[in-house]
Amino acid sequence: MVTPTESADLKDSNLKGNIPDGLTPDLLRYWEVLDQVPDPEIPAISVVDLGIVTRLTVGDGGVVQVVLTPTFAGCPALKWMEKTVREALLEAGAPEVEVQTTFENPWTSDRISEVGREKIRNFGLAPPPRRRPGCVGPDLEALAHAACPRCGSENTSMKSPFGPTLCRSLHYCFDCLEAFEQFKPL
Ligand SMILES: [Zn+2]
Repeated sequence: MVTPTESADLKDSNLKGNIPDGLTPDLLRYWEVLDQVPDPEIPAISVVDLGIVTRLTVGDGGVVQVVLTPTFAGCPALKWMEKTVREALLEAGAPEVEVQTTFENPWTSDRISEVGREKIRNFGLAPPPRRRPGCVGPDLEALAHAACPRCGSENTSMKSPFGPTLCRSLHYCFDCLEAFEQFKPL
């Protein structure tokens, strides 16, 4: 809901973040702390904007319980992420923190918030295209048609489905005459 006092920065208020509405002040503070924890691979985007933080609750005695759904099962940065999340919450005043990692509902790139997609673009990467309804698994057609993060042109072609890292594909923009990477839809 946008009130007149909040509409000063329209561009930002149009972007939907991944912090839920209607939180208690304590919970909101913890979410905001985690929104400062960077993703190990793209430090410009937080673990909250990536949709990795799937649950955050405060239990008995103020114990903070966090559930993380990592982007990759074999992510070597997983231990680092758990540790950083725990330390950030302890520093914010949580008396105790329990971090749980689950792959029960696999992460998909559709979990990335609008804010996060904008940050990925500012980082110089094309954000993953949203999957069309009913499309299960990688959307290969969407993967091949990436918009250039520099000029927005769709006059691009995919050079390789595998960029420098497993989760990125490599593209070429015919308007900028330069290559760019896309965060692959998953
Ligand atoms: Zn371009």
